[in-house]
Amino acid sequence: MIINLERNDRTPIYMQIRNQIMIKISNGNLPSGSRLPSERSLALELGVNRSTIVRAYEELAADGLVEAHVGRGTRVCTSLPSEPINEHSDEPPFAWQHLLNRSSHRMQDGTLAGILGMLSSDNLISFASGVPDPETYPLEECRLLCEQVLNTEWKSALDYSETNGMPVFRQALCSFLKDEGCSYSPENILVCSGSQQCLDILARTLIEPGDSVIVEEPTYIGALNAFRLSRARFLPIPVDREGMRTDILEQILKRQQAKFIYTMPTAQNPAACTLNPERRLHLIKLARQYHLPIVEDDAYGCLHYGPEPVPSLASLDRSGQVVYLGSASKMIFPGLRIGWIAGPEQLIKACALIKQVTDLHTSSFSQLLMAKLFQKKRLRDHLDGIRPLYKKKRDIMLNALTRCAVPGLKWHVPDGGLYIWAELPSPVKAADLLARTRRKGVVFMPGAPFFPNGGGEQFVRLAFSRHSHTEITRGIGIICAEIELMLAELVEHNIDYSSISNLHLV
Ligand code: PMP
Repeated sequence: MIINLERNDRTPIYMQIRNQIMIKISNGNLPSGSRLPSERSLALELGVNRSTIVRAYEELAADGLVEAHVGRGTRVCTSLPSEPINEHSDEPPFAWQHLLNRSSHRMQDGTLAGILGMLSSDNLISFASGVPDPETYPLEECRLLCEQVLNTEWKSALDYSETNGMPVFRQALCSFLKDEGCSYSPENILVCSGSQQCLDILARTLIEPGDSVIVEEPTYIGALNAFRLSRARFLPIPVDREGMRTDILEQILKRQQAKFIYTMPTAQNPAACTLNPERRLHLIKLARQYHLPIVEDDAYGCLHYGPEPVPSLASLDRSGQVVYLGSASKMIFPGLRIGWIAGPEQLIKACALIKQVTDLHTSSFSQLLMAKLFQKKRLRDHLDGIRPLYKKKRDIMLNALTRCAVPGLKWHVPDGGLYIWAELPSPVKAADLLARTRRKGVVFMPGAPFFPNGGGEQFVRLAFSRHSHTEITRGIGIICAEIELMLAELVEHNIDYSSISNLHLV
């Protein structure tokens, strides 16, 4: 490989090597998938120490340009664009890759976009995405209310509005939250464009590069990505069917410092567990003892199927340490793009500054529409209507799993949310299974991206929200049949699946 080193240049040698390889990758001279020379041979060729090449390759890996595989050397990542944008152009493509900031490489970028992409295919049975069932969207009511908004409030609906959220919306939200046992005034609320934006804004408000954040393991990918962008490290606490293991949290807090605790205590995504009452109190006690804020993501709190409503951590908090995140997405429909942060005024003011930079304010039209849905108990009635529907879908999926009776396949009965979290019989891996079921028209979410620091390959998340009775049963049948086939093949032929499939979600 031709690399010209300038020994008198102030740029360190390893950076000169990294920069020149980067240019070769960007202009297509080193295409996707091509193998870089071994560290030893390049070191010999350039007359430098091997550790210099190791460092250059590490930099390229951190840039997301190359991947090192034990026994297969270092290769240019296959996800890089290698063709010019205009196929009729002779110009080499502009070298974007090295301009992208490093945080963007730290995210599981393909995963969320991939799930949303999968939705658009009509031919798939998709258990991948946890979006609500469109049949539950209150279409007629919204049609009517949109007309009302446009007839009577069209000026405010179509105008810019306050960064913190429209007063009428914040007031209506506070009344709604009061019925849930939380006492907030409009100054405690920041209305956001979905609770995904709440997570991003909170991350940018609270996290300094290198800070540790306590997260559940597994946890929501969108939160991990938001925290990664702010350069957080993760202290994962395992969950079981009763939610976060607060006994383990206590042990960790004795030894490690953290910035805050991120948790989904009700109908957790993806593990579908709900934190039991004792652990709720224990968690709040620990947060107080160690002076740690709790970020409570209650995206699925409205979809709890138990006989009694579960009190949110925010409703149990007496010291203002809980920051409460809510969302309209599972309650009504995700296209509204409404979420909220409820917390102490000081924090809300700081978050509002970031929000202003991000998008000035959340859609005025959506806020006015939702404010109307809050009125006259419309939203409560809607929620009372959709809970039994999802519970029924959950039962259909549970029955299908039970009927298939795959040896070693484990799950628990979720008491809320849109997912079943299952553990595959060893040694079947979710990515290998997905590669096979996808060819048969069924997809699901493999567990690994939900694990902050790696692992989780044997787990799958199955969303039951979007499909009909027949489709759920058929889809589960296909998945279970494939698991059984894989188990049989493993026994018969001693096949190592990890060596033949290299699947990334698209
Ligand atoms: N938090 C959790 C736990 C989620 O599962 C999701 C999306 N499914 C979000 C936040 C973001 O939701 P939205 O931006 O649509 O409110």
